[in-house]
Amino acid sequence: MAIPKDWVSIEIRELEDLPCLRYAEKPDRTSSYKLLKEMVVDEGICSHCGTCTICPVDLIILEDRPLDFDPKKGCMGCGVCVAVCPRYNYKPLSGLGDYIDVFAGRSRRFEGQDGAMVSEFIACALEMGEIEVALFVSRDEMWRPEVVHVRKVDDLLNRKITGTKYSFASLMPELHRIINRVESVGFIGTPCMISGLRKLQQKVPLYKRKVRLAIALFCTENFYWHELYEFLKEKGADLRNAIKTDIKKGKFIVTFKDKSEFSISVKEMEEIVPSGCLACQDFSGVEADVSIGSVGSKAGFSTFMIRSEIAMRIFEYMKEREYVELAEAKIGVVKKLCDYKVKIHPYPRDDESIP
Ligand SMILES: Cc1cc2nc3c(=O)[nH]c(=O)nc-3n(C[C@H](O)[C@H](O)[C@H](O)COP(=O)(O)OP(=O)(O)OC[C@H]3O[C@@H](n4cnc5c(N)ncnc54)[C@H](O)[C@@H]3O)c2cc1C
Ligand code: SF4
Ligand code: SF4
Ligand code: SF4
Repeated sequence: MAIPKDWVSIEIRELEDLPCLRYAEKPDRTSSYKLLKEMVVDEGICSHCGTCTICPVDLIILEDRPLDFDPKKGCMGCGVCVAVCPRYNYKPLSGLGDYIDVFAGRSRRFEGQDGAMVSEFIACALEMGEIEVALFVSRDEMWRPEVVHVRKVDDLLNRKITGTKYSFASLMPELHRIINRVESVGFIGTPCMISGLRKLQQKVPLYKRKVRLAIALFCTENFYWHELYEFLKEKGADLRNAIKTDIKKGKFIVTFKDKSEFSISVKEMEEIVPSGCLACQDFSGVEADVSIGSVGSKAGFSTFMIRSEIAMRIFEYMKEREYVELAEAKIGVVKKLCDYKVKIHPYPRDDESIP
């Protein structure tokens, strides 16, 4: 029989790593999606990180709304979704975390949200052969996030691929989809996604071997795309005419094609902040190899905290080739934001703070 073109060939040894097979050997009906539903989603603490979409029967629905389940698919009780969920038995992470060094930097090659240091780290990792592909979040005309593969340094010259989109992106489902087809991946995400990735790497060796570089973006909150789009439209800002969105000094700022700006206090956006973000205390992405954000740096620069040996090697490579202009980072300002996030998102929270 001819093998259809879109079929994937998997080596036998890789099968040993597939969680559904490892766990399905000992199915445990008490460890089903119902646990995730009751303990995470119904509790309002799901971060929408998407790690649980590893489900082998595609029962978990991750769309532009709170996580949902399709029990018609028939849960096989493998328990993988529960095992990899960073919000199951949730203990919030917080603070600056361990780091080797911190700098402010601006890429000399790319334009990004701030100093394009995320793009520069990925470009160098590709050039060095550390990774074969990185997952980025691009966007359509309405700023709906779209996950794309970056395989070549030149892909990063596309301004729709670099830059921040303040909406949940389906990065994890894409990682699950490609993990058997690639050898080495760079993963960039919000701190909750990096926590999902780390838990996944503890449970499934395949992800530990293949995801070589994890970059966290500093984060205070994120939004469902349709809620953000409609909220801004109601306030008179049409994202279809936008070239940049940003959060700076407590304001959500939209810059339009004609260079005019719309801004609104983030406080006024509270009604559309998802409940999972309100339980989140990790601003700096303490579990990443390198954490990158705008606070702590002057305009046009990104603050980056190097936390691991691979991130340090990539940084050395970048410096040697003079790809980066460096400046001093104000780590005290980053620390303030870390403390602020703990203050505004107490956990466990009192019932009244749950929307
Ligand atoms: C939801 C969100 C909230 C943030 N909040 C803060 C904040 O409060 N304070 C702060 O200092 N910084 C925050 N950041 C980080 C900041 O906006 C920049 O992403 C960061 O400074 C890196 O800029 P850069 O120029 O180095 O990145 P670039 O080189 O421009 O690369 C941007 C990277 O971000 C990725 N990306 C874009 N949108 C998303 C998304 N929705 N989900 C996952 N990845 C995405 C892209 O794929 C790309 O890898 C936030 C980022 C996000 C996604
Ligand atoms: S991963 Fe899927 S099949 Fe396994 S327990 Fe969860 S929902 Fe059920
Ligand atoms: S926190 Fe992440 S892994 Fe847990 S239920 Fe929500 S989307 Fe799934
Ligand atoms: S605040 Fe950021 S890191 Fe925390 S749950 Fe929301 S998107 Fe994830």
